[in-house]
Amino acid sequence: MATDTPTRDPQGRFFCDGCAGRFTDHGRCDACDGEPLMDLGDPEIHRMLISLDEQRIRERDQKILFAVIFFTALVMIALLGIALSIDVELIGLPITVGIPLGMGLHIGLRWFFGEKPRVPRTYNNRTPS
Ligand SMILES: [Zn+2]
Repeated sequence: MATDTPTRDPQGRFFCDGCAGRFTDHGRCDACDGEPLMDLGDPEIHRMLISLDEQRIRERDQKILFAVIFFTALVMIALLGIALSIDVELIGLPITVGIPLGMGLHIGLRWFFGEKPRVPRTYNNRTPS
C-alpha cells in the first residue's frame, strides 16, 4: 500500500500527537508508525488536543508531587527521631528542614521531569475558545 508522506514543517497545520511533529498536509506521521495527523485548523480538534495536553501535564505534576510528599515525609520522620534522641528542644527541626526541602525538590523535579506543552496553543494567531 503506497502512502504519501506529508512534508514536515514547524509551522504546519497538521499535528502528530505521538511526536508533536507538524506537517503541511494531512496523512500519517512517518516517525510514529502511521499515527494519523490532527488538523490544528479545526478549532474543535485543536481544543481537544490542548485539553489532552493539559491533562498529560497535570498527571505528570501529580506524580511528581506524590513522590515529593512521600520522600519529604520519610526525611521528616527520620529527622524527628534524630532530633528527639538529641534534645526535645529540637522538635521543630523536621519542619524547619522538611518544608524548604520539599519545596526545593518539587521545583527541581518539575524543572527536570515535568511535561512541557507540546500542542501549540495558537494556530494562525487563533486560540480555540
Ligand atoms: Zn509522529
